[in-house]
Amino acid sequence: MTAMTRRVWNFSAGPAAMPEPVLQRAQAELLDWHGRGMSVMEMSHRGADFTSIAHKTEADLRTLLAVPAQYKLLFLQGGALAQNAIVPLNLLPAGGVADYVDTGHWAQKSIAEARKYGEVNVAASAADAQYTCVPAQADWRPSASASYVHVTTNETIGGVEWFWIPDTGATPLVADASSHLLSRPLDVSRFGVIYAGAQKNIGPAGLTLVIVREDLLGRARRECPSVFDYAVQAKAGSMYNTPATFGIYLAGLTFEWLIAQGGLAAIERANIAKADALYAEIDRSGFYRNPVRRSDRSRMNVPFFLPDDRLNEPFLAGAAQRGLVQLKGHRAVGGMRDSIYNAMPLAGVLALVEWMREFERQHG
Ligand SMILES: *Cc1c(COP(=O)(O)O)cnc(C)c1O
Repeated sequence: MTAMTRRVWNFSAGPAAMPEPVLQRAQAELLDWHGRGMSVMEMSHRGADFTSIAHKTEADLRTLLAVPAQYKLLFLQGGALAQNAIVPLNLLPAGGVADYVDTGHWAQKSIAEARKYGEVNVAASAADAQYTCVPAQADWRPSASASYVHVTTNETIGGVEWFWIPDTGATPLVADASSHLLSRPLDVSRFGVIYAGAQKNIGPAGLTLVIVREDLLGRARRECPSVFDYAVQAKAGSMYNTPATFGIYLAGLTFEWLIAQGGLAAIERANIAKADALYAEIDRSGFYRNPVRRSDRSRMNVPFFLPDDRLNEPFLAGAAQRGLVQLKGHRAVGGMRDSIYNAMPLAGVLALVEWMREFERQHG
């Protein structure tokens, strides 16, 4: 970075902060990647150089997440919301039914989209608990013949995270893991499909990661667009059409950074330390409030409320003066929300905690 560069502590929910070493490396390689005299952006996606980048990116992700051999990794476009349609187009036959678990804002988006393509059974909902917890599997009402079961494993707005994986037997489990994938180890073998938009923990917006078990390929409906047919893209190595090449390159740099940090077990320890520091401060005095059941509190997205909404603006203004930005809660929820993805260092969280204490002394 140049001497003039001033970086803030960015708590955005997404697009979110990226690891600074990744940005520095991208900057250093921007004009001339490895002596080729061009940017990765300017390369043919089918050339040897970009092919090597794509292969390394995929191999590093397989290593990081310990992805079993019978799973394909797809690098697609359209974000998680496109997957909400692409999943039923690939897995839900005409006249079929799919089970969904309603844990809040993003689960509801998935449910509404799936209803365009078939019957949706909401097998469980946290509505009665104001979306402050994950419904226990003992209380679910699954349908007899669901083509798959869909869960949203981290509700980015509500701040509710699953720390267990449901047992759906032979029915494939599909997860929107957009806002916590790669924040900790995950047993991929328990899922049929995992998808995530990149702009939280993976890289820049414009790239979608899909992990799909091989036996689920080849079931797409006739009307499924070819670029979104998992089997077509798996066969083509995600290059049926031009992929988001620069996004894949940045995701690859992010995976290298994660491996250098010690992998997902190490990043999980760091994420626990960050989340613990923040929730401890929220719970310390009763001035701040987080309504989520303790066992289901997200380590990535931490919403909290001040005792009076009129304090929101002064809290945000003082935070901004200290270089703490993007703390305003989602408009659907209000209050504050701080997203503390992998790229947020503990120092940023501690700076926020310090401001929370000072603000409480001023207004408590
Ligand atoms: C951010 C987010 C989305 C939206 O993804 P897009 O990439 O904007 O389509 C969907 N689901 C979850 C859980 C998210 O966090």
